[in-house]
Formats: sequence, C-alpha cells, structure tokens
Amino acid sequence: MSSPVNEALIRDVVAEVLARLGQAAKPADAGASASCSVTAGGGRSGAARTGFRGKFGVFSDADEACAAAHEAFLRLSEKGVAGRVKVIEIVKRLCEANASEWGRIELEETKIGRLDHKIEKLKAQRGIPGVEFLNPYGLSGDHGITLEEYAPFGVVGAVTPSTHSIPTMACNIISLAAAGNSAVFNAHPAAYKCAVMAARVFNEAIYRELAIENLACIVEPPTLESFSAIGKNEHVKLLCVTGGPGVVKAAMASGKRAVCAGPGNPPVLVDGTSCLTNAAKCVIFGAAYDNNLLCIGEKEVYVLEPFFDKFMAAMEKNGAYRLSASQVDALTKAAFVFPPGQGAGCPHPVVNRDLVGRDPQALAQVAGATIPPGTQLLVAETTPDHLFVEEEQMMPFLPIVRVKSVEEGIALAKKAEHGYKHSAIIHSHDVANMTAMARALDTTLFVKNGSCLAGLGAGGEGYANFSIATTTGEGICNPKTFTRVRRCVMVDKLRIF
Ligand code: NAD
Repeated sequence: MSSPVNEALIRDVVAEVLARLGQAAKPADAGASASCSVTAGGGRSGAARTGFRGKFGVFSDADEACAAAHEAFLRLSEKGVAGRVKVIEIVKRLCEANASEWGRIELEETKIGRLDHKIEKLKAQRGIPGVEFLNPYGLSGDHGITLEEYAPFGVVGAVTPSTHSIPTMACNIISLAAAGNSAVFNAHPAAYKCAVMAARVFNEAIYRELAIENLACIVEPPTLESFSAIGKNEHVKLLCVTGGPGVVKAAMASGKRAVCAGPGNPPVLVDGTSCLTNAAKCVIFGAAYDNNLLCIGEKEVYVLEPFFDKFMAAMEKNGAYRLSASQVDALTKAAFVFPPGQGAGCPHPVVNRDLVGRDPQALAQVAGATIPPGTQLLVAETTPDHLFVEEEQMMPFLPIVRVKSVEEGIALAKKAEHGYKHSAIIHSHDVANMTAMARALDTTLFVKNGSCLAGLGAGGEGYANFSIATTTGEGICNPKTFTRVRRCVMVDKLRIF
C-alpha cells in the first residue's frame, strides 16, 4: 500500500482539479437538491460556493472550515433523522473496516500506546449511542400537550487529544451528528495527520451517500490560533474539548458554552474484603490498557496494610513486574521534567512527554530493569506523596501505596484525584466502604470490583464514549449532551381523553 500521506495528497490534487473544472464528481443521491446548493450564509443559491467543494472536510483556514460545516449542518437538517442514522452507520462502518490500518497509522504518528488497543478503540465505535438517545419528553394534562425535544446547536467546535485521536474524533462525530450537528475539529498537533486522513475518508463517504460534503471538518495543521479562530467563529455555537487542564481553561475562557472532558488521575482502593486476584487482574488490565493512556485508567493504588503483600504477589503473578526502590528512583528522574528556566526544586514538575504511553520494556530500560517479555505493567511500592502518585503520568508504571485504614486510603485517594471529579475505583465487598469512597471523591465514574473500562461498558453495563465531560458535569458524552432542549406547547387541545 502507498503511504497515507501520498494517497491523501493525490486525492487532494484530483479533487482540487475537478473542483476547478467545475465538475466535481456528483454523488449517487445528489439529485435535484445538490444542484441548488445552500450558501455559507444559509440561504439557497443556484451558484455553488466552489471554495468548499473538493475539500472533503479538510481546511487550512479555520473560518472557512466553520462556514463549510455550517453549510453541512443545514444540509443535514434537510436529510432528517434518516440522514443522521446514515452518517452514524458510515462512521462506525469505516472505523471497523479500517481499524487495523488506522490504528497502525495513529501509532506511527503519535508513537504512544499499543497497537492492539488502538485497534480495539476503533472497533469500539460500534457501541457509541446514536439517535435512539433522543427520545422527546412529553407531558399531557388538562391544559393540553407539551413536548420537549432535543434540537441541534449547529456547528460544534471540537478539540481532540493525542491519546486517542481518531477514536475521539469518530465518537464525537457520532454523538454530534446523531443530535443533528456538524463539527470542526482542532486535533492535537502530535496526532493530527491521522485525524485528517480519517476525516477525509468519513467526509468522502458521507458525500457519496448523502451528498453532504463537509459534515466533519478539520483544520490542517491545527494551531492555538486555529483553536482561537474556531472559538470566535459566529457559526460555532458550542465547544467540545477533550484534553488536559490547558485546553479546558482555554475553552472556558472562550466565551462560548463548552462541554469539557478534562484530566483525571484515577485512584484505586483495595480494602481486602474482595478477591485480591480479581482486584489485581482488573488493575493490570485497566492500567496497562494502551500503556495507561486512558484518562479513566488506574493511576495509583491504595491497599490496606494486612493485604498489601498478598496483593503485590497477585499483581506479579498476573503480568506485573515489581521494580526495586532504586529502579523507581531512576524512572522517576527520567519521567518528570522541569519547565525550562525553573530548574530543580520547581514546585510544578511536568510529565516527560518522551515517556508517556511508552511500553513497559521502554520504561524498564530507563529504570535499569530487565523484565520478561509480555510484561503488561510495572509496579512498585511508593510513598503517598510520590510524583507518580501526584501527577497524571499516563505511563504503564503504577505506584502502590500501603495504608493503615480505609479512612486513610479514601483521604489519600481524594487528594491524588485533585478534585478533577473524573474517575475512581474500589475493590471491596463492604458496602459502607464503597459508599464512603463514592461520597468523598464525588467522581463522574465510580467503578466497584472491575477495571476502569467497566465504567465505559467494557465489562460493566453502560455505553461508551471517549469524551467524558468531567469538568463541566455532563458526564459520559452522548447525543443528548450536544442538544438544546426546546419546548412546544399546545394549549387545551390534542389530549385524546
Ligand atoms: P493536551 O491537553 O496536551 O491536549 C489536548 C488537546 O488540547 C490537543 O488537541 C491540544 O492541542 C489542545 N490544547 C492544549 N492546550 C491548549 C490551549 N491552551 N488552547 C487550545 N488548545 C489546547 O492533552 P493530551 O496529552 O493530548 O491528552 C491527555 C489529557 O487529556 C489527559 O489529561 C487526559 O486525562 C485528558 N483526557 C480526558 C478525557 C476525558 O474524556 N475526560 C479523554 C481523553 C483524554
């Protein structure tokens, strides 16, 4: 297969030439409505805005992307619910069919995470909820009938993280289109090429099947300036940002309403009342997933003292490798850096991006350890104030802290979670302990006796999404998250009894 960049380039050139000749390939069902296009301003016009033709969602200018997405939003409105269902099916189908190739392309670009899990995350798009989530709320009484419906916003500006670039974009498109919106994406600069490639494929297929060309626009290359332009654009009615504290702050300061899927640092408490082997297996599965890139992934574990050694033994037996204190020191020195000019002693260490999402072998090499092939995760006992506990480190090394009581474990877990209100996990059969931890941490996701992934439907009940709106409180994103509630009231009539 030729390289994706070349293929994309060739497609671009062909599309551009066709657009210039004014004969861009017409889709199968373009029909009469396609010859009467909708202008960026929303009005009908006999003359097509050729500036948007042949782009298939990929724009170097953020404002142009927003205008094209607005046009696509209006076209989607004309297609009704059936059109939204088709868009969702196209995105899910393409993610499934291209999972292996796109997973590889994303890994090659970002160099973080694991191929098997990158593939799984694309296949998991199948389970993202669609239009079925938008049941209207009806009221019927002596004064007639009232209906509350979930209406679209229009164009939604979306920011995606480096940790799951295509999967986040894909599930955002599914949720947004299910609700009748279009999108403009600003991807992470270290993970945008794969997103651009996938966006183009989505838009081409949507164009072929629905005659809508720019439903999921993306800016190439993404910059802070392009984010700012998206945030200011008149067509953009809502932002959906998925990432760390920086982008959440920027979105909140934009003046637009923002759905913010922010950072986490999920703690785990093991109180010894449940099966320690199950706890160890679940912790390894969650923390090792995609080399601990998941925002919901287990990041530090507190174990009650009497069960500590047994738990560590279960971890080692099930795929974890225990580092010595000096190996942890070596890893810590390499894993955290200080912003230039501030030097050692800086109170705000920053995770070394070169080690984020690397595999256990790479971390072991830095730590000076030789580990068996197939090791899923590195672990070690640390103090509660260790950098690996305090910082959201996104590496397959898990600090395990010994605690004297459940109360101490909950207090330390709360401190490490930093009030992000993201995710927390307990392994326990004691309902009082579960309740105490759930209340104290007040997180969006709280999983009992499973891996963090159970919180997103993998091993637990529920639907998935890669954007979990923790900071702004909408929870696991779904189509309803991106709707306006509109009420329609019929006074005194239409009630049938
Ligand atoms: P990141 O914060 O470095 O980047 C996320 C996105 O925000 C990128 O597209 C980046 O370009 C953009 N960005 C960063 N600062 C910005 C600013 N000041 N203005 C505009 N855009 C800005 O995060 P990352 O390393 O790509 O992803 C990991 C982080 O994302 C972790 O903190 C993780 O917990 C979080 N995350 C959260 C969720 C969730 O659903 N809550 C999901 C995935 C990742």
